[in-house]
Amino acid sequence: MVRIDGSQGEGGGQVLRTALALSLVTGTPFEMINVRAGRDKPGLLRQHLTALKAAEAVGAAEVTGAELRSTRLSFHPRALTAGNYHFAVGSAGSATLVLQTVLPALLHAEGPSTLMLEGGTHNPAAPPFDFLEKTYLPLLNRMGPRVEVTLERPGFYPAGGGKFRVNIQPAKLQPLHLMERGRVLRREAVAQVAAIPFDVARRELETVAGVLKLREDQQRPEELKRAFGPGNVLRVEVESEHVTEVFTGFGERGKRAELVGEQVAAEVKRYLDAEVPVGEHLCDQLLLLLALAKGGSFRTLALDGHAFTQRETMAHFLDVKIDVREVARDVCDVTVRG
Ligand code: ATP
Repeated sequence: MVRIDGSQGEGGGQVLRTALALSLVTGTPFEMINVRAGRDKPGLLRQHLTALKAAEAVGAAEVTGAELRSTRLSFHPRALTAGNYHFAVGSAGSATLVLQTVLPALLHAEGPSTLMLEGGTHNPAAPPFDFLEKTYLPLLNRMGPRVEVTLERPGFYPAGGGKFRVNIQPAKLQPLHLMERGRVLRREAVAQVAAIPFDVARRELETVAGVLKLREDQQRPEELKRAFGPGNVLRVEVESEHVTEVFTGFGERGKRAELVGEQVAAEVKRYLDAEVPVGEHLCDQLLLLLALAKGGSFRTLALDGHAFTQRETMAHFLDVKIDVREVARDVCDVTVRG
């Protein structure tokens, strides 16, 4: 039984999701104390509880401590089973993080799986659906498996109520090398509003376009049905020869549209200036895939606490060596060896 202190590193939900994912893949049971001790509202929130229950179902696991606000739990997987699953967060909590928890396991299952996920599809501090579809899954599919997602209904923070389908065709994960971004082929900024004044979208785009020097035809304001709101998401897509990155910001009550625009533009600018293929969020997610493939490498920005916490959590379950080498200011090479 592996024992993990959930307050390690970032002390957030990622420690739990990664532990669940790798416990399912390796069949290693674990117990965790101090779950999400580093967060304002520690313990299991609805989103984490749904992820835990999803992992329980996929792994026919024995679980203790599966309650809201629980700060201690144990997880003992018995049989990893492919199939058709339906998981609903039941709040605006992120449904993509539920997928992040069970997907690695289902990539290792005996047959194909279909998932229906309900909850938020566009949440702060979680992979937005567009990132999943355009950034993460194309890279995962390059490693062997075939995973496709279909958005049935968007669920924006804070309203939630989204729904998406996932088809998973497993295959042995092959190492991935992503050291070059290649030429930038397309840049586009999309500002979506639902039950929020359209002017907010225009102001966000104006700010982003000012910093990134985007032309009119590289900006797309979109008004979504009121029923999806209230919600406001700004994203910038950077499509390059070898990878597409998606950067996202969220409007909030009391936060100026210009500030949302400035923050997303600053993230994009940092990525473009560093000339790396892998951005900040893709980094921790790719690290796990490469560790499962027992090989690969990528060039990214200076690693943040999330990436190092990810490396620490993975070390409880996988015997892989992860080297991080700083090659220039805000540029790092990451190499994974099995
Ligand atoms: P919690 O709030 O549940 O305690 P946490 O603090 O562990 O969660 P993070 O580590 O910040 O959460 O993020 C969760 C996951 O979502 C990470 O894999 C991170 O890379 C991903 N993520 C966060 N924001 C984005 C984004 N804008 N685009 C893509 N992925 C993102």
